[in-house]
Formats: sequence, C-alpha cells, structure tokens
Amino acid sequence: MSSKQLGQFLNENLEDLKVKGLYNVIDPLQSANGPLIQINGRELVNLSSNNYLGLATDDRLKKAAIEAVNTYGVGAGAVRTINGTLEIHLELEEKLAQFKKTEAAIAYQSGFNCNMAAISAVMDKNDAILSDELNHASIIDGCRLSRATIIRFNHSDMVDLRTKAKEARDSGKYNKIMVITDGVFSMDGDIAKLPEIVEIAEEFDLITYVDDAHGSGVLGDGAGTVKHFGLSDKIDFQIGTLSKAIGVVGGYVAGKRDLIDWLKVRSRPFLFSTSLTPADVAASIKAIEILSESTELNQRLWENANYLKAGLEKLGFDIGDSETPITPCIIGDEVQTQKFSSRLNEEGVYAKSIVFPTVPRGTGRVRNMPSAAHTKEMLDRALAVYEKVGKEMGIIQ
Ligand SMILES: *Cc1c(COP(=O)(O)O)cnc(C)c1O
Repeated sequence: MSSKQLGQFLNENLEDLKVKGLYNVIDPLQSANGPLIQINGRELVNLSSNNYLGLATDDRLKKAAIEAVNTYGVGAGAVRTINGTLEIHLELEEKLAQFKKTEAAIAYQSGFNCNMAAISAVMDKNDAILSDELNHASIIDGCRLSRATIIRFNHSDMVDLRTKAKEARDSGKYNKIMVITDGVFSMDGDIAKLPEIVEIAEEFDLITYVDDAHGSGVLGDGAGTVKHFGLSDKIDFQIGTLSKAIGVVGGYVAGKRDLIDWLKVRSRPFLFSTSLTPADVAASIKAIEILSESTELNQRLWENANYLKAGLEKLGFDIGDSETPITPCIIGDEVQTQKFSSRLNEEGVYAKSIVFPTVPRGTGRVRNMPSAAHTKEMLDRALAVYEKVGKEMGIIQ
C-alpha cells in the first residue's frame, strides 16, 4: 500500500499548480530539435532550443557518434575512475582545454552535474561564495551542496559585489571566498561584467568561477565569454556545457592542471556516476573540431540573431537589452504573455513564455533563440506571425 501522506501531498500540490496555471504541460516533438519542428502533426518554426549552431542535427556529428557506437558500444560501462575512461574521453578533454585556452579540462555528464561537482570539491563550510542573484539553478544548488555561506549580490551590480567582497574579507570569518556568475544570463541575454569581476577578485583574493553555458559557441568566436574579454588566464573555473551550442549532452570544467587533477579525485559525479557515452563523446569532439577550424556557424548565428532582433524591433516590440542571440520579447503581464505564446504557437511559431517566478513579476516575456540553422525565410515566417499576433492583441500598433 502506498503512503497516504504522499498521496495527499501530491494531490494538493498538483491541484494547486493547475489552479494557478503554473502546471507545465510538455509537448513532445515528433521530429529532431532543428530550426523547424513537428508537434501534434504540425510544423512550427522553432525559436526555443539551445541548439545555437544547429550541431544537434549536423551530419558530421551524427557520423562520428555512429562510428563510436560501432567501436565502443552504447555505454561506457563504469564510472571514470574505475574503468569507464575511454581514450576518447581524454581526447575530448584535451580538445576542450585547447578550445578554452586552459591547461586542462574535465568532462562531466551534464552542465548541471559540473556545478554539483566542482563547487563542493573546493568550497566547504568555512568558506563563502558571492553569487549573482540571477545565477542558474544548478549554480545555486551546487553552492548549497558545498555548505559554504552564500552571499547573494544584486545582478551584475559591481558596487554591491565590491562592498560584499570587502565585508566578507574584512570579517575574517572565511578561509576561501569565491565569486560565481553565469557568463551569459539566459533570461535577458546580458553578459557578466567579467573585467570588473576580475578586478574585484584580484583586490580581495577571490576564486573566480564562470558558468558559460550560454556563452560557449556564441561569444569570443565560439570560445566563450572569458575569451571574449581576453581573460583566459584570469578565471579559475570555466564551466561549459556540451548540451547547448555543442549540440550533444555533457559538461566540462576548464582551468589549471592542478585544479583539474583535484576534480578528478574529489568531485563526486566524476567518481560515482557513469561517464559520458561513447557517442556523446565522439560527437562532442567533432563539434569542437568544427568550431576550432571555422567561425562560419558562429557568424551565421549572429547574422540570424541580428536579423530577428532588427525585425522584432522594427515591428515595435520591446526586446530588452540583450547582448547575445537570446532575444526576449517582453510583454509584461503574465496572462498576456502566456496567451501571446500560445497564439504564436497556433500560427506556427514555437517560442516559450517565461514568467514569474523565473523572471520578476510584470516582466513576462516570450524568449526567442535564433540559431545558425534557421534560414532567412524561416525567420521571415516567424516575423510575419509576430506581426499578426502582436497587432491582434494590441501589443504593437
Ligand atoms: C543550461 C545551463 C546549465 C545546465 O547545463 P546542462 O548541460 O543542460 O545540464 C548549467 N548552467 C547554466 C548557466 C545553464 O544555462
């Protein structure tokens, strides 16, 4: 017999979410997650995937994955430290280090796992972490897991960061102090102020940690936000994901050799969770090779992003202050935002609404993720739908 208490808990809370309109219904895709997707038998222009460069469906990656399956099978068979390290895992890590211009790198099963792994391998209850208030959920969880004191600073507010860094240092209460930030913030598309963060870190001897999930493959000719600012030798931890621009799945930490050696003996997901599959590894290696050889996909991404942004702005939409391809279309009211998104869907554009509590109340938005794989024709189709629905709902004139 199952627990009555659990039954009651689930019933009440699921009902509550449904009443408040917060219960997320997931629409499964009947196609690959490319620039056009098929849902419920309908084709939509896809503006919601993190597949920035179109690599998730790239023939070169598919071929590499299939060859790896033929050679190594579908699973790695063990955790990295028993005998789940294949030669291709090491090859991937070398390629990642070269790509990030660091001494070494370590691969994990996901970007989320990186943050579970890396923060608590270095920080403990005698330490403090200065964390941007808009940091990703996995950073927040990773910080909690470490049991360090978490000190939130206002989003990208360097005066607040400096004040709190000084307070933490002067208090004498902490052994190590870390500052941790997203490289690119995923809801607004703004870039962390890394030059100022590095300056403050140098002044107060802070460990620097940048999670560049949305910057890698996008900024710095693809190498990421740290390279974009020319700070490759100044950031202790560079986190990246293989799941967004790289188009596969997995994550990595790039940094100094000693740091990576330490993570290989002390980070728990590396020690206790089976390593990336051969197909994931081979496809990721191919992706890094493609990005290292040519900036063509990166350039196409930016062209498409600029085209979509200019089009939305010309129609009169508020697209916020994004500095990256992430293009919010800010509607404001939560109910209006959700209605806008579902009308776009009915007219053939898949762009998800994002509302409180993911973003502040009254700043509901539909978030658009253009990619290198979109054609101008697809973007024009999306813009025409935006115009139609925007006018119909009185959001634009
Ligand atoms: C998406 C994201 C992650 C999670 O990466 P996965 O590889 O999907 O697990 C971690 N951090 C940030 C900042 C992200 O945007």
